[in-house]
Amino acid sequence: MNNNNTLGDSFNTSYEELNFVEKAWLNYFNSFENETIATALIAFLIHEIVYFGRCIPFIIADFIPSFTKYKLQPNKVNTAAEQWSCLKSVLASHFLMELPLIFGFHPIATLFGMDITTVPFPHWQTMSYQIALFFVMEDTFHYWFHRLLHYGPFYKYIHKKHHEYSAPFGLAAEYAHPLEVLILGAGTIGGPLLWVSITHNLHLITVFIWISLRLFQAIDAHSGYDFPWSLRHFLPFWAGAEHHDYHHMAFVNCFSTSFRWWDHLMGTDLKYQAYRQKKADELKAVAAGGSTIASSSDNKKTN
Ligand SMILES: [Zn+2]
Ligand SMILES: [Zn+2]
Repeated sequence: MNNNNTLGDSFNTSYEELNFVEKAWLNYFNSFENETIATALIAFLIHEIVYFGRCIPFIIADFIPSFTKYKLQPNKVNTAAEQWSCLKSVLASHFLMELPLIFGFHPIATLFGMDITTVPFPHWQTMSYQIALFFVMEDTFHYWFHRLLHYGPFYKYIHKKHHEYSAPFGLAAEYAHPLEVLILGAGTIGGPLLWVSITHNLHLITVFIWISLRLFQAIDAHSGYDFPWSLRHFLPFWAGAEHHDYHHMAFVNCFSTSFRWWDHLMGTDLKYQAYRQKKADELKAVAAGGSTIASSSDNKKTN
């Protein structure tokens, strides 16, 4: 195995001083002869666990009647057959497309100077600013390439598949044409590779955390649910499901993934804003109608 970056080379830390995850990390990589295979297998495993694990709560939510009020398009129901067909397509894409590609990650990452087996891990503050940067980079990349994918032939031959579900659900996050998986996947992995090629300061664990958070974002955005505790209610610039669900419903506007600023800046959220306003007015009218009925019945009681 490659021992260039293991314990003690860069840090004066003993094995006992490492935390549980760092010890497991070291033992995992020490148990493989080939670091490329070790990296690919753990990367694929994390991807599968996070992807399907994050989908489970939304699948359960579909069976809880009191959650229907949080559905963004409650009148559109995806049948079990549609969800099954989506699952099969996503699994085929994971095993036949993403898994072989993942094996190419380690050689490129090490070429650019990424830390793979080094422990202890970087400080959490270092990880945080790097992950925040990757979110911004991916969002920018995705905005422009997603807009391009809505152009004539690109839409017809590539992106149309992702738009088969006009009321998306978590599993549909990676339901896409292989070329789209390749193009938009480059936005997720391209940021860390560009960063490490310039700075030579990035650890594989940071990339894994980034990819896990990006999967959370993508599945949340496709979940079809906007809960009162959804992140966008606390971070006004966070796109969330409400933003991307409109894109699937209307086939226009809201091209970004994580943030709202590109759509706002480029005016590709005007139809979405008008739709939101209309919905808000309707809710107000219903509330006003309700209070009118209530007050008129109060009047009757008084009279
Ligand atoms: Zn689209
Ligand atoms: Zn989508």
